[in-house]
Amino acid sequence: MGADIGVTGLAVMGANLARNLARNGFTVALHNRSVARTDSLLNSYGHEGNFVRTETLAELVESLERPRKVLIMVKAGGPVDAVIDELTPLLEEGDIIIDAGNSFYEETRRREEALREKGLHFVGVGVSGGEEGALNGPSIMPGGSRESYDSLGPMLEKISAKYHGEACCAWVGTDGAGHYVKMVHNGIEYADMQVIGEAYDLMRSLAGLEPATQAGVFREWNTTDLASYLIEITAEVLEQEDELTGRPLVDVIVDSAGQKGTGRWTAISGLEVGSPVTAIAESVFARSISSQRDLRAETSRVFSAGINEAITASELYGEDDAQQDFVEDVRKALYASKLVAYAQGLDMLVAAGEEYGWDLDLKSIASLWRAGCIIRADLLDTIMKAYDVPAAQRPKNLLLAEEFTEALNECLPAWRRVVAAAATYGVPAPVFSSSLAYYDSLRRDRLPASLTQGLRDYFGAHTYQRVDKPGTFHTRWSQDRSEAEV
Ligand code: NDP
Repeated sequence: MGADIGVTGLAVMGANLARNLARNGFTVALHNRSVARTDSLLNSYGHEGNFVRTETLAELVESLERPRKVLIMVKAGGPVDAVIDELTPLLEEGDIIIDAGNSFYEETRRREEALREKGLHFVGVGVSGGEEGALNGPSIMPGGSRESYDSLGPMLEKISAKYHGEACCAWVGTDGAGHYVKMVHNGIEYADMQVIGEAYDLMRSLAGLEPATQAGVFREWNTTDLASYLIEITAEVLEQEDELTGRPLVDVIVDSAGQKGTGRWTAISGLEVGSPVTAIAESVFARSISSQRDLRAETSRVFSAGINEAITASELYGEDDAQQDFVEDVRKALYASKLVAYAQGLDMLVAAGEEYGWDLDLKSIASLWRAGCIIRADLLDTIMKAYDVPAAQRPKNLLLAEEFTEALNECLPAWRRVVAAAATYGVPAPVFSSSLAYYDSLRRDRLPASLTQGLRDYFGAHTYQRVDKPGTFHTRWSQDRSEAEV
């Protein structure tokens, strides 16, 4: 009997996925460009299951059962192509190449097409959950042909995270769909973290709540409909004291947020498919602004930025329980803004599905994110229920799902108060405020876009449509200003 699957690329992610597969009873053939990593894995964890040691890709391929399944977990980009090029001549029709790294979905589409022409299946798999998830059960979002999923799926489902026993793994669609869904997951993750950051900043700047106290607030919030992994770990980070200075760790960490690119890809793709993912884009921009530390230092000197005087919640609310009321308002603003981020992310999936020919099932996708991944949250179970209705009754936008309309109405006054306070006192809250603007835009039946169209027609004869009759029109602005049907 040959091995069930081969894994090439045994840095932390590949090694942990290989161990996860072996711990679940699969025989795993191992390969890495430099053999030292293979041996290191076998020395430390060889006892965990059935591994086959190989030194070359040819040996790896030879060791596998048919149809062969080779999982690539190397550095994204050129290295993936390099491995595919070396692997392809060694494989036979019907074999499956799996790329479980963080590849860009357009590259996955290109690779899938090229390999399909050679009779091979190429499966781009979105994997979320970091090192820990890879080892103990990640959220898995596989793309590629349906046929390849029939033989690969049971294996992936077995090693995936489980939510009350249900596997967080299901086929999402052809070619790049898996990597696309993972990318949108990461975009939502950016927004999720940004709204948490905004809540923290507002509670500290306007209500004077120190990080350790806020840890308790977030812990409390984790028992509400905000319950999620990110809220849980926010409490942990906020209560951490710096070993060196005894100050809150969050005060000694440089306030410049890094990014590896998936949030940026999501924002760019949102622009390309015409889907307004404002919460995700603002989150990416917020990280960019955070990185402009020199500019911020200079600007804060010129405009004496920051909060000039300590503003307490009582100045905002003028009551005895002001601080408590403000915290509750922030919680509601956070929930509403988070909901907008999810609504936008899911809308974007629908738009991308139309663009790329994927029939994406939002209920199934929400189910994949319930465990194993960074955005895991109770909210996803409710989102799933919102889409668990016949197609004709499916909400056009998540905000319209009956599960959320009431909650949103309840959050609205608090959301407005918080955004107003942020603007009044100069605390940046880009996602809180842009999400409110998105909500307000959606619920307006008339937008000033009619004026935009008028202007476009004026300077560029771009034409417009009328509300009262069909057709396309142009006003002769530079002549007698009469209207012509064009
Ligand atoms: P790295 O991204 O650091 O890549 C290192 C591995 O790639 C090594 O095995 C290395 O081999 C191999 N490699 C690099 N270049 C080549 C090449 N030209 N030919 C063959 N092999 C090559 O590893 P990680 O484990 O951190 O990440 C793997 C993938 O998983 C990436 O796509 C990454 O973005 C993604 N990832 C996903 C996470 C998630 O939560 N889903 C988290 C972290 C990463 P050698 O040992 O010989 O140098």
